[in-house]
Amino acid sequence: MSRTPQQAYAELIRREKERALINSSAALLAWDERTCMPRSGASYRAEQLAYLARLAHEMLTDPITGDLLAEAAELPAAQQSHSPEAAVLREIRRAYERAKKLPRSLVEELARATTLGQQAWEQARRTNNYASFRPHLERIVQLKRQEAEAVGYETSPYDALLDEYEPGETFENLRKLFAGLRQELGQIIGEVQATNRTPRRDILERDYPIPLQEVLARSAAVAIGFDFEAGRLDVTAHPFCSSVGPRDVRITTRYNPRHFAPAFFGVLHEAGHALYEQGLEPEHFGTPLGTPCSLGIHESQSRLWENQVGRSRPFWEHFFPRAQQMFVESLRDVTLDEFVFAINEVRPSLIRVEADEATYNLHILIRFELEHALITGDLLPADLPEAWNEKYRQYLRLTPPDDAQGCLQDIHWSAGLFGYFPTYTLGNLYAAQFMEKARQDLPNLEEQMRRGKFLDLRDWLRENIHRHGQRYRAAELCRKVTGRGLSWEPFLTYLRNKYAQLYGIKAPSVSQPKPAVAKKK
Ligand code: ZN
Repeated sequence: MSRTPQQAYAELIRREKERALINSSAALLAWDERTCMPRSGASYRAEQLAYLARLAHEMLTDPITGDLLAEAAELPAAQQSHSPEAAVLREIRRAYERAKKLPRSLVEELARATTLGQQAWEQARRTNNYASFRPHLERIVQLKRQEAEAVGYETSPYDALLDEYEPGETFENLRKLFAGLRQELGQIIGEVQATNRTPRRDILERDYPIPLQEVLARSAAVAIGFDFEAGRLDVTAHPFCSSVGPRDVRITTRYNPRHFAPAFFGVLHEAGHALYEQGLEPEHFGTPLGTPCSLGIHESQSRLWENQVGRSRPFWEHFFPRAQQMFVESLRDVTLDEFVFAINEVRPSLIRVEADEATYNLHILIRFELEHALITGDLLPADLPEAWNEKYRQYLRLTPPDDAQGCLQDIHWSAGLFGYFPTYTLGNLYAAQFMEKARQDLPNLEEQMRRGKFLDLRDWLRENIHRHGQRYRAAELCRKVTGRGLSWEPFLTYLRNKYAQLYGIKAPSVSQPKPAVAKKK
């Protein structure tokens, strides 16, 4: 073995970039599958994607990856924590070890079970028949528990699954964070409901011609900095954002001609994801320094633009007059305040994807607790519908009339995505904490928003978050950017301020008590 540590490191990077060629080709095939592929192309497309996935997996798990990691670890820079090299080696090692620990038979069995599971779930949801889905869920839970055992964990098998989406995060840490959040959210929602005030909800459900919706959504995406020279916007049934290359980031949305909100806020959401991808350093594409930090951080970027910015009054001071010019009939009798109230209504509901900013997180906490119990074995799939309904009664004071509007509403578990749900709430919390800091650093931000100027904020995010890729783990990044660990306090302060104006609830006191989660004992 005559490689120097420098040569080993360079070879690792070369192989990562080669693997990125395979994975990004798969991403393009997957984008095509969801946007424009003819139906009869499905079975061959599945073969193409399975083939590329196998190639990428073989490259990663090749024993040479282990050799190169060991040799490159001798690099002086690799000894310094937080050096780019140390981060690169940490993240490649994490992916390599995880992939190596999973037996091929388990990976293949999971792929099969989740393909069948998603088909069964779709059918079960359509026909409101949980019993037909139950055996699939039982099989998937069993396989995910095997996955957790194979990967290994310190305290909870759930951590082994969570780690895939939110590296370094643990159930115990989230349980504490979310317990405080739940209590405070319940308080705010209760105060809002006690006011008995409701916005004119109907103003969003009028005629909003699709071509005009598209013009407005595109102009908003451009205003916040989405680069259409390095991206596209298309139409799909389920909106998503996909990175096909360092200068090719694609988003999709769906339009409802009788509802203003889903497409407009959906585009802001996906464009927020895309700004993160467009803000990564192109020369590091496919390596850890050019890869998003975690799903929670990714979601913080989408929710920051969708909610913190896109549902704010200053944003609409700029966009509402434009919307009124475009949708003359539908917005003629609507004031700016009525519109801002309508897009921020708090209303407990049964369906997660239709939930408002406040109640949304309760939907997530329910799923977080239930999926943890499924993985530890404390809850059996047979008992899921009743456990689900009980949680909805406790948390939202609502009882689902059937399982289609209850435990069958989300695709995640049928696709084997356990440990994914909490990243949505983490995204909301990170978004609020980052935005609080951005407001301090950019004192003119509100004034800029009123004038439709958002690029200073985008550049702040690029500088502080995007360009680092995976150099820091999410918790470290948060501390580095905001000076403290993640807390629910900025999010709740933000909600309270907003609802003080819209509903007249009590505004946050000026000096905030220190967040309970940040204290030890
Ligand atoms: Zn998202």
